[in-house]
Order: sequence, then C-alpha cells, then structure tokens
Amino acid sequence: MHEHFIDIPGRGTGTIHRLTWFSFGGGNDGPHVYVQGGLHADEGPGMMVARLLIDRLIEEERAGTILGRVTVVPAANPLAFGQFLHGDQQGRFDYYDGRNFNRDYPDLSAKAIAIIADTLDDDAQANADRIRRALLEALETDLPSAPSDRLRHALMRLALPADSVIDLHCDGEAEVHLYTQPVSLDRMLPLAALARCRAVLVADVSGGEPFDEAVTRPWGAIAEAFPNKPIPQGCTSCTLELRGRMDVDREVGAVDAEALVDYLRHVGVLVGQPTIPALSCEPTPLAGSEALVAPVSGLLSYPVPLGKHVRAGEVVAEITDPVTGSLHPVRAGTSGVFYARPATRIAEVDKRLGKIAGSHPFRDGPLLSP
Ligand SMILES: [Zn+2]
Repeated sequence: MHEHFIDIPGRGTGTIHRLTWFSFGGGNDGPHVYVQGGLHADEGPGMMVARLLIDRLIEEERAGTILGRVTVVPAANPLAFGQFLHGDQQGRFDYYDGRNFNRDYPDLSAKAIAIIADTLDDDAQANADRIRRALLEALETDLPSAPSDRLRHALMRLALPADSVIDLHCDGEAEVHLYTQPVSLDRMLPLAALARCRAVLVADVSGGEPFDEAVTRPWGAIAEAFPNKPIPQGCTSCTLELRGRMDVDREVGAVDAEALVDYLRHVGVLVGQPTIPALSCEPTPLAGSEALVAPVSGLLSYPVPLGKHVRAGEVVAEITDPVTGSLHPVRAGTSGVFYARPATRIAEVDKRLGKIAGSHPFRDGPLLSP
C-alpha cells in the first residue's frame, strides 16, 4: 500500500486542501479499479466503506492476493470538509459559487480525438493504451484555477487510468441503489448484485456532467470518431448510493466493503472467484425514475416504507398543515420501488419527497437531483 497526497491551493490566502489517496498493487496482471467516497463531503457511508476497503486491501496485500491495481480515495473532497453552516457539514455544493461538486466534469472527447489523430492501429489493447494516454494528456492541457475545478482535475487524473470507476455516495434516506450507463451496465451488474441494490438506474447521459460519466463517455466518442479501428470500452463506471446519510455504521460498512472486495475478485484484481448472488432488482431507465415533489408545505410523513414496490396512484407521502390540520396526500405517478427520500420531515413547496424506480421512461432533460 502506498499513500499519496495532492495539495490543492485554496481560494483564500494561506489555505491548502490536502487530498489523500491510496494505491495497491502495481503489476499488470489484472485490471485497475478506482474507488472514491465522500465527493459529497456530507455523505459518510461511502467514506466509511472506502476506508474499510483500504483496511481489507492491506490484508489482501499481506496475503499476496492482489493481481491488478486498486486506487482508493476515501475522502475525496477536502475542500468541503471546511464548509459548515450552523454546525452542520455542507458537502454537496461549493459555498463559493453554489456548484455541485459532482457536476461540471470536463468532457475530454474532442481534445483526446485531436491528440490521437492517426495513431491507432488494429490492435485493440494497444489502442486502449494510446487512448488512456491521450485522455490524460487532454486533461493536462488545462489546469483550472478554481479550487473546486482543481479537485475535479485531480480526481479525474487518478480515475482516468482505471478500467472501472466506482463513486460512493448516499441519499437522504435510501435503499442501496446504483446509477450507471448502458455501456457500463454489464460490468456493473455483478457489483449491483453483490451490494444487494434495490434499484439500478441507467442513463446514457444523465445531465450536468457528473464524475462517473466523465471518465466513460470519451471512449464512446473516440470509437465513433475512428469507426474502422478496434476500440474497446476502456472504462466503465457507476455511482453506488449506500443508503442514507445516517447510515454510517462499521458493521454495515464492513459488509459493503466485503461486497467491493468480492467485486475486485470477480473482475480479476484480487485472487478468487466469488459467488455472485441473483440481482435484487431489474435495471430500470433513469428517465423512468419519478421524483415526487411537494405541492404544498407542511409536516412530511410516509405511510409506506422505503423499499416497497408502490403502484401508480398509491399514496406514498402525506403532508400535514400544522396550523389548519389539513392533510395533503402525495400519490405515486408511476409503479416501482420507492428507493429514496429526504432525511428531513418538514416540506417546503417543491421539495423532493422521494424517488420511485419506474420501468417506463417518461422524463427528459437533466435527470439527476440538483
Ligand atoms: Zn452524493
């Protein structure tokens, strides 16, 4: 295990934010998997699991079972660890400009295509190596000045060499669920099965340029630009949502970390062949995921538990006016698993009240929460 640091100059005089990352293995016998937690710095479960994964990988290293490479960034957002409002960690949006730390990652496709030019041949593996180098070169053509963009740049530099990228997040309260793209789906389904995901949400482009899509998308664009050359999908990725913000638990985290260890075995990074359980859900389109919205303000309660398969028309949430006592039911517009809801119980108008993984696409435009 090697520990590494990247220092990101802060916006204010004398401030520096230190990003710490860990690497395991270095041989070329197996693939390279990248795992990060805490890109949203107020989401603890992913950081716990990433750290417990490091502890497990130290054991695997001692046992001599690491074939490939693993990069782990257990606390990916040192900028936001300094953001508090009235005693609460604020980790989703940059206080300086309000931007979501998991949006606005650069699309390197055009720059990489220009760098690649006519260097590809008929060897798919050699092409993949060239493309990986071109993507890193494309990234390095622009070193941004804003600290949050420097962080984006640093995380992409660590993730672009990997064959698989797993970004650990959580919701307010949620069942385990996973976001991925069609090109990554086959390689991420075993992880969804091992992590017992109750929803797998698939979108080619979910909008806003999140981290996971930024590392996979150029491969498709490059393959389109050079249709006569063999070009594999050299990177697959997902965002794995490990329940809700309160679900920081060493025991549960150890089970999740073991699921990641089994996934690393499955893809050949570690020695061993794990049993992949049956999927706990069928993948559904992200465009079919309904975000329930509060039509009125009031006290929020839920007559149905998370994880329930609800039917269109079923009351999923209730809003009680604390002054008049009036009750406003909020009904599901689609049938599917009720997989996420906020961690608070007071609703303002337009508050997002929950998410239902429907199987029929009905939305377009940006598909993720702000
Ligand atoms: Zn998040």
